[in-house]
Amino acid sequence: MTRFIFITGGVVSSLGKGLASAALGALLQARGYKVRLRKLDPYLNVDPGTMSPYQHGEVYVTDDGAETDLDLGHYERFTGVPARKSDSVTTGRIYSNVLAKERRGDYLGATVQVIPHVTDAIKEFVLAETEGEDFVLCEIGGTVGDIESLPFLEAIRQVGNELGRERTLFIHLTLVPYIRSAGELKTKPTQHSVKELQSLGIQPDIVVCRTEMEIPAESRKKIALFCNVKPENVVQALDVDTIYQVPVAYHGQGLDTQVVRHFGLEEKEPDLSRWKGIVQRVRQPEGEVSIAIVGKYMNLRDSYKSLAEALTHGGIANNVRVKLDWIDSVVFEKEDAVQHLEHVHGILVPGGFGERGTEGKISAAQFAREREVPYFGICFGMQMAVIEATRHLVGIKNASSTEFGPTPEPVVGLLTEWMRGNQVERRNAEDDLGGTMRLGAYEAKLATGSRVYEIYGNATSISERHRHRYEVNPAYVDRLEAAGMIFSGMSPDGSLPEIIEIPDHPWFIGVQYHPELKSKPFEPHPLFTSFVKAAVEQSRLV
Ligand code: GLN
Repeated sequence: MTRFIFITGGVVSSLGKGLASAALGALLQARGYKVRLRKLDPYLNVDPGTMSPYQHGEVYVTDDGAETDLDLGHYERFTGVPARKSDSVTTGRIYSNVLAKERRGDYLGATVQVIPHVTDAIKEFVLAETEGEDFVLCEIGGTVGDIESLPFLEAIRQVGNELGRERTLFIHLTLVPYIRSAGELKTKPTQHSVKELQSLGIQPDIVVCRTEMEIPAESRKKIALFCNVKPENVVQALDVDTIYQVPVAYHGQGLDTQVVRHFGLEEKEPDLSRWKGIVQRVRQPEGEVSIAIVGKYMNLRDSYKSLAEALTHGGIANNVRVKLDWIDSVVFEKEDAVQHLEHVHGILVPGGFGERGTEGKISAAQFAREREVPYFGICFGMQMAVIEATRHLVGIKNASSTEFGPTPEPVVGLLTEWMRGNQVERRNAEDDLGGTMRLGAYEAKLATGSRVYEIYGNATSISERHRHRYEVNPAYVDRLEAAGMIFSGMSPDGSLPEIIEIPDHPWFIGVQYHPELKSKPFEPHPLFTSFVKAAVEQSRLV
């Protein structure tokens, strides 16, 4: 029997609802249950694919090619369950489906309304593809009280009513702020937020309170009384020093115990050794390395959430703390790269879009290549390394990417046709922005004996997630190979370069895909483990 847990948030945004959901998923999994996590986002974009990273943070990509909210990354990192297209939906997607049905005449002349047509479409999404799961955790984006969330809240209220208490549970996450001048924690915002939820017909079963101070028993009782929940169902969520402590901390406060109790399930202790081990390694590393991340959205860390996590995982694997030095590549256009990069033990150029700052990224790749500093180029970072090598090793000074406009030397260019398995996929330069990217899992064949072959444990074939529009142009491969760069990973039909490396360098690898999306704290991605290891070796030299 599949049970549904709905997680809503109140008072303010950014309370860590995604992490709370992910951590609860991990805790239920540690009790032996099969879980799936889902996100319902109230905005009107069909998916976050076309949203600016400044507004929305990273776009997380699933194996089946969906562009989703970054919370799906948390879910996957905490539970190891690969997210699917059917785990993420927005108001925009719901409406576009409802409107398409209306145009087709599927509603048989009915007046199409928010209730029941939109809410039915939301319920369909919540309940779809859940066979075999013990728990489906659905996080509702936004904050209770937003006009936009109303249809979602109404839909989950209906699900609660239809499936009954034995199969549904509502968790509400709020903030209990500490008011310094009064020297007190305040429960009123929580009371108001729960009242708002109740006015929509939802009575939360558990109230989780984010707080920077211990909530005294008295305040807890007050919250329980005013919010109409049991005192043991008021769960305190104190700030923690590392996100991997979140499952352990929630367990300590009884969150998962109250959840299984609600459903009348057996209360066996979960095995949290995996999480305790990770926390221990994060808290007590044996050393430290610094990695420069040279990119564009440097003042907004959420744009590179998975990347920062994957580097931490690489650190966990090597027992070191990875210190990240976020550098906006445009600084190299005014200043020499040397002063910013001289002290670091590794340089990473991550994914990116558009021309701004690209000359700086190319300089960073050049610095890493010439000074023999470990270099990791991811997607755009690989393309920049290839342009750099074409300019300075092959000697084609005006090598560029068609992403920046027409060029006589398109080392990186738009490809309009490629293979997915046995199927040809096509795109058109004029297509909608959302429809022109190579998205999701694609296979790559690795060259035996190459460095990546060894890093991937002598695998000849790998599958990794993609999100890009441009490709390294195969027409330049021979000249680049003659100059010392090898193409150690190619698409199965041999047409698209997936991985480049420079064998005559301590560690210089570029990948067209996003390995950071699949790294997990308990299963660090081999490329990040290897890159951080190279940085540790570099730190012994400088
Ligand atoms: N802008 C590049 C492309 O579309 C790289 C994309 C990326 O780094 N994700 O191909």
